[in-house]
Amino acid sequence: MLHHKKWRNNHDKLKHCRCMCECAIHTTEKKHNWFGEKKYRLAHFFDRWWDIYCQDPKHFIQPEQYKAVQAIRTCRTAALGIDIYSCPNCGDTTEVYHNCKNRFCPTCSWSDTIRWAEKIKRNMLNMPHRHVVFTIPHALNSLIKRNEYEMLNMQMKASAQTLKEWMDYKYGLRCGIISVLHTSGELKTLHSHVHMILSWGGVDKIGAIQQIKGTFVKYKLISDKFRKEYETRLTELFDTDKLQHDFRDKAEFLRFLRRINEKHWIIHFEDPMETPTAVIRYIGRYSKRACLSEYKITRMEEETIGFSYKDYKNTDFFGKPIEKEKVLNYREFFPLLLQHVPLPYFRLVRYYGIYSNKGHLPREYFNQEEDIPVNWQSLQESETGQDPLVCQKCKVDKVYTHSLVERRTGIIKYFRNGFTDIQSIPFKDRVA
Ligand SMILES: [Zn+2]
Ligand SMILES: [Zn+2]
Ligand SMILES: [Zn+2]
Repeated sequence: MLHHKKWRNNHDKLKHCRCMCECAIHTTEKKHNWFGEKKYRLAHFFDRWWDIYCQDPKHFIQPEQYKAVQAIRTCRTAALGIDIYSCPNCGDTTEVYHNCKNRFCPTCSWSDTIRWAEKIKRNMLNMPHRHVVFTIPHALNSLIKRNEYEMLNMQMKASAQTLKEWMDYKYGLRCGIISVLHTSGELKTLHSHVHMILSWGGVDKIGAIQQIKGTFVKYKLISDKFRKEYETRLTELFDTDKLQHDFRDKAEFLRFLRRINEKHWIIHFEDPMETPTAVIRYIGRYSKRACLSEYKITRMEEETIGFSYKDYKNTDFFGKPIEKEKVLNYREFFPLLLQHVPLPYFRLVRYYGIYSNKGHLPREYFNQEEDIPVNWQSLQESETGQDPLVCQKCKVDKVYTHSLVERRTGIIKYFRNGFTDIQSIPFKDRVA
């Protein structure tokens, strides 16, 4: 597992950032896996309180929020079906559960991320990349809540545009960018920011690949450029009546803009990382994932749930944020968490610059690293050292025998030949 090792080394080298992003950029995340035992499952908390909450909800529950909760609750349970594989020699069976594949599901996001990383690394330029984070002031939050689609869209476009123009102006290069939008802060409040993987180099005017030497960046210049780009687009939305707002007139809107002008528009650049695989493993690990990782859940007691977070306002002697615990009642927790369920059809991951039209560049410009096939089997094997579909005793492949699906009427057993068998025994009594 050479690539794992490379990725860790890179991760260890990174210094600490203060952009207050939930994604814990430079902290060593505890090793966790998606199929193994976690102490707490978010699904259990939803199972216990969601139906009660829905009878008297504290917020308007959007259809996609219902869908996400339903997906999390049924993910890897009998409701989505179980495939049974058996050893032809000794009859030992393996149960394979199905995933919900919802973008918000903490169980699915981890494996989905690794698959995504493997897929995109072959479409990245063969050169170092930098991780860049663009944040906007919180004073914009109430406006974002009312114009979620337009404003988040705009934030992604404005940040990519800023980097593209800056790379062109400063180095005369067309760069490649992969952007991932995050809306959540450490405390699950609205904190929208864009993570970008930026090629530290690009294609020059005559079509040759150039790498950038050195790492120096004028933050103030880029931050000002981003602010201007963002505000121009926001004003355009206002002028074309595409913005929901309470401003009495343009003058009041402009006063608001002046206020947010004074705020800090935080921009953060990581040092370049050498190989695309390392970058992608690292960024994929936290950027394209669900809003609350289950290993962060510290307690589930009656009506309350606790999760750990990093307090960026309180740092220790070494400047590292202090880890604290937040405990919330389900009535507070559900609206807080579910505001981050992605809007339907909103693309959270986008490709800009030469990564948006890579077809125009010759194949040898891109990363030539070997593909590592990623599926649930290989993921599990890399974690446990065992192929789940090989009998450990007999060392032969297990074969698929049948599937089980839990329905309201009972368990339906599907066989390969199309034959079904409906058993009305509740599932819990059947499988210990
Ligand atoms: Zn983030
Ligand atoms: Zn066997
Ligand atoms: Zn899932």
